[in-house]
Formats: sequence, C-alpha cells, structure tokens
Amino acid sequence: MTFTYNAEKNFLESKTFLITGASDGIGKTCARTYADYGATVILLGRDQKKLEQVYDEIEQSHPGKVIIHPIDFKTASLEDFKLLADSLNEQFECLDGLIHNAALLGARTPIEFYPAQEWADVMQVNVNAVFQLTQALLPALTKSADARMLFISSSVGRIGRSFWGAYAVSKFALEGLMQTLADEVENTTAIRVNSLNPGGTRTNMRRDAFPAENPETLPTAESLMPVYLYLMSKEAQSIHGQALNVRDFKAL
Ligand code: NDP
Repeated sequence: MTFTYNAEKNFLESKTFLITGASDGIGKTCARTYADYGATVILLGRDQKKLEQVYDEIEQSHPGKVIIHPIDFKTASLEDFKLLADSLNEQFECLDGLIHNAALLGARTPIEFYPAQEWADVMQVNVNAVFQLTQALLPALTKSADARMLFISSSVGRIGRSFWGAYAVSKFALEGLMQTLADEVENTTAIRVNSLNPGGTRTNMRRDAFPAENPETLPTAESLMPVYLYLMSKEAQSIHGQALNVRDFKAL
C-alpha cells in the first residue's frame, strides 16, 4: 500500500533546510515540498538559470522563504564551502536539515574500461563534495534542537551491480559516511543521520541510465514526498544511522 503521511500544515515553519541538486528532478520537488510545508529552503546546484527558475516558482508562493546558492561540486574548493557556511551563519541561527541529493551518474561501463577522469569526477561530485559540505555545515546543524541529514543513495550503493562503476562505488561510500557520522553525532548532538534510496524515479538521471524505458511506468518525484516529509517530522526523530528505502515505507 502506498505510504501516506498526513503532515500538519506548516509543520516545518521555523525550519531551514539545504537541498543539493535542487535545480532538477527529486531535489527540485523536495525543495518545493518542504517550502509548501513552511520551511525556508536553500537551493544548491550548478546551473544558475535552472536554480533561478525554481527560486521564482517558490518565491511566488512562499515569499522570502527561498535562497539559491550556485556551486559546482566538480570544481568547488574547500574555500567555496567555507564561504557558503559563513554566509548561512550570517543569515540563519542554525540549519535544521541537509539533504545530500545532487549526484552525477557517470559512465555505465565495465570497471575494466571505466575512464579514469570520469571516475574522479563522479567521486568528486558524489563523495568528496558531500564530505566537504557536511564538514562545513556541521557547526550550523549542531546548533539546531532537531536536525536531520539525509544522504540520497541508490540500490547499487548497497549491492554492487555490473557496469554501474563509479556511481555505485560512490553510493557505497555515502553509506559508509552516513554510518560513521551517525555513530559520531548520536550522543553529542540532536542531528539524526540516515541514507535514503528513492528507488527508480521519473527524472533525467533515470532516463540517461535507462534510455529505452518508458518513463510513464515510473513513479514521479512527487509520489516520494510523503516519505521525504515524514523523515523531517517529529515522529521520525528516533530513526538514525539507517539505510532506508522509500519503497519499504508502508502506510502508517
Ligand atoms: P537529476 O539528474 O534529475 O538531478 C540531479 C541534480 O544534481 C540536478 O539538480 C543536477 O544539476 C545536480 N548536480 C549534478 N551534478 C552536479 C554538480 N557537479 N554540482 C552541483 N549539482 C550537481 O537526478 P535525480 O533527481 O534522479 O536524482 C536525485 C538523487 O536520487 C541522486 O542522488 C540520485 O543518485 C538518486 N537516485 C535517483 C534515482 C532515480 O531513479 N531517479 C534512483 C536511485 C537514486 P543540473 O540541474 O545542473 O543537472
């Protein structure tokens, strides 16, 4: 049965969430959804024009509740992440949520032939930048009375599958980062850390990975949102250090 979550109107009212890869796909829908429930959302992405479109849309329905911060994870330096953290510290008392959603698919080819530069790029975007952003924002998350961090994973980050190369390995790395961090912050902060596999979803990345597939057969990003909302709720506060799957959520 489909998971439903009857979220109270504006239950995220006083919260500030940062979503990476918010210019498209699941990240864009997630940003809109959190804003619909009252959160202030900080949108990260590499394409300023696309981010501005999402900004305009959210700003129109929720004025003053959205900011954008263009940043390319492939080329961003430690200094760029520090500047981002400084800027957020000036604007907000704390950060209540960090959704590590941005990712690069990379080549789908056997390890034997995987191009080394592409491997490095995927690791940079999907792992190194995630580590650097996490490190830069941990102080702001620590200041929250109830913060959530989600590492968006994949089924190929839990069981390896041929030809998924750097993408699969990067998602395995995220699972390791999630577990390590969850253990570190469990008793000393109010940050709850989990990974979440959205499952096959109708987005550009999925189309690139499975060009012959009919997108109409896939769930939309919107259909995942009850789970994304629930994981930010008080009811989900005890969920920590877990590798979650959207499809495993059953009706409450
Ligand atoms: P999309 O390709 O639709 O969106 C990915 C987002 O990441 C875009 O906003 C994209 O920006 C951004 N991004 C890519 N590279 C960079 C970069 N170098 N710097 C900053 N931002 C970047 O993917 P999905 O919405 O499908 O995927 C969202 C998450 O869900 C990913 O972590 C993915 O691995 C995971 N996932 C998706 C599945 C699916 O079936 N869709 C299945 C399992 C997991 P831009 O708009 O510029 O491209």
